[in-house]
Amino acid sequence: MGDTNTKETFSFQTEVGQLLDIVAGSLYSNREIFLRELVSNASDACDKLRYESLTNSDIAVESNQLAISLDVRKKEKTLSVSDNGIGMNHNDLLETLGTIARSGTGAFLEALKSSKKDDLGLIGKFGVGFYSAFMVADNVDVLTRKAGEEESWQWSSNGKGEFTIEPGARETSGTTVILHLKKDAKEFLDESRIRHIINTYSEHISFPVKLGDDTLNSASAIWTRAPKDITEEQYTEFYRHASHAFDKPWHIMHNRVEGTVNHTSLLFVPSVAPFDLFDAERKSHVKLYVNRVFISDTTKDLIPSYLRFLRGIVDSQDLSLNVSREMLQTDPKLAKIKTSITKKVLGELKKKSNKAPEEFTEFWTNFGAVLKEGLIEDPSLRDRVLELCRFTSTHNQGLSSLSDYIGRCKEGQEAIYYMAGEDATKIAQSPHLEGFKAKNIEVLLLSDPVDEFWLQHVTEFEGKPFKSITRGAADLDNIAEEKKDENSKENVETPDIADLIASIKLELGDAIKDVRPSKRLTDSPVCLIADDGDMDVNMERLLKRHGQLQQNMPRVLELNPNHTIIKKLADRAKGSEATSDSLLQDAAHLLLDQARIADGEVPSDPASFARRLGSVMESAL
Ligand code: ADP
Repeated sequence: MGDTNTKETFSFQTEVGQLLDIVAGSLYSNREIFLRELVSNASDACDKLRYESLTNSDIAVESNQLAISLDVRKKEKTLSVSDNGIGMNHNDLLETLGTIARSGTGAFLEALKSSKKDDLGLIGKFGVGFYSAFMVADNVDVLTRKAGEEESWQWSSNGKGEFTIEPGARETSGTTVILHLKKDAKEFLDESRIRHIINTYSEHISFPVKLGDDTLNSASAIWTRAPKDITEEQYTEFYRHASHAFDKPWHIMHNRVEGTVNHTSLLFVPSVAPFDLFDAERKSHVKLYVNRVFISDTTKDLIPSYLRFLRGIVDSQDLSLNVSREMLQTDPKLAKIKTSITKKVLGELKKKSNKAPEEFTEFWTNFGAVLKEGLIEDPSLRDRVLELCRFTSTHNQGLSSLSDYIGRCKEGQEAIYYMAGEDATKIAQSPHLEGFKAKNIEVLLLSDPVDEFWLQHVTEFEGKPFKSITRGAADLDNIAEEKKDENSKENVETPDIADLIASIKLELGDAIKDVRPSKRLTDSPVCLIADDGDMDVNMERLLKRHGQLQQNMPRVLELNPNHTIIKKLADRAKGSEATSDSLLQDAAHLLLDQARIADGEVPSDPASFARRLGSVMESAL
């Protein structure tokens, strides 16, 4: 091969093949959306050409000539979508119409296949784009020529594993996608059906969409219109176009700011979390326009990455059109726009949280973990982000804000208590919580990986420090009891377990940092905690998983002096032969392993654990 004068055959990347299978099988009832996807791509291509012409003097374009044309040929049974936008060359075709260049695609498609759902839920998170053409066509030809280049190309495929590229004939730059409609898709030859679809899905497209001599849309950028003239459907369709999504936006924010830097923003918070939300790149997806000319959809420093769930556009006439994307990035005006938008969005979220707390819970479930990154990233707005934060806690099923928490603090309670771990349900059952539950002291249960990190930056809220209940001493004595129960154990004297502690320390040696009586346990005999000033337990777990920490941190073993096991062991330890008592020796190791197991860890030496457990059981029988 390599001789590009003949027809070449290529295989689709595996992921494309999988996507095509899913598309063909699952989207039948919504297949008219292929037209929106193709018109959307054509509109993007016109946007890109307009930008290119600004920075590349070899490319001239009359902005008002850019358009998208639909053409129906009943006899040939074809529907085509043409644009006079940027076009594609041989390499572009190979890279874009044979692969999916989005990271995480493989894993996503696997999830999709096993979910068996045939609705738009999951696939909508992904956006099928160009490949949706194969829902209605059994063959697709793409005739294209890149602006500024001489050669034209024809890409063809039946969507079954392979595609071909061969030289084509096209007079001008742009792209025509020709759909050879399937037998059961003849409805898309009907002009009134097409008009209807364009009205529904593509009214907001900024370039004229033509069918014959008719223009089907008003071809003005939607964000330049007054909000009162825009229907909710139009907003929704624009959102779907701008984000390649299928859901309805959870919230719409359309604002014009006149001030130091004039700009208009039309931003959406999705109602479904996009599949690549936690991608390592943490890219923003808001498109930047300068005076209605599209500049880039990956502008850094337009939207902070902790608001990367936002979709939509920002348009400013005060930025310069005649500089490259890279130059724009460093324009101080861009930083001003970013600040203004960030504050606006946080303000809107606050309003929403007050007005519609239940809806806000949906938002928080989708995007809370992302928003919390702002606590680390943006110290100047930390308090505003903190106000929006919601947490699960031992208080009830729902989510609590920090103000809710403060409002429920007990008399004498000086700290905001939390426990961090990987799994919310597991944390909720942890022995560490027992003493807090007994005194009805609320503990926040944090299970997002980001929690460990913001807690290093945010040390207090309304004067109360955050305190991990798995680290340092738990001194609950100063906190007022709810209601004293006559028979409560409160006045019972704490048994003396000093001898037991001494024998355990001796037996476990370096495996633990210390052994202490516990104030946080009521039902369990033991738990492990991190000493004050040491790394917290969950942080250690996270760092180990990411290979950033090898050795174990020695922990403090806490014993519940009122637990029967501990009481009996303490009695047994009172006496001089404790050091040669094999039961006490086994018990020391078993208690440590028991505490590890309660934390969801494995015993440090499973074989010895099994042996000791066996011998202790034997002696009890
Ligand atoms: P997306 O639009 O989400 O990137 P698509 O599968 O719809 O995904 O399209 C893949 C890529 O193919 C586009 O990003 C673009 O580079 C290219 N492409 C599709 N249609 C056109 C077109 N009409 N003109 C130019 N490029 C196009």
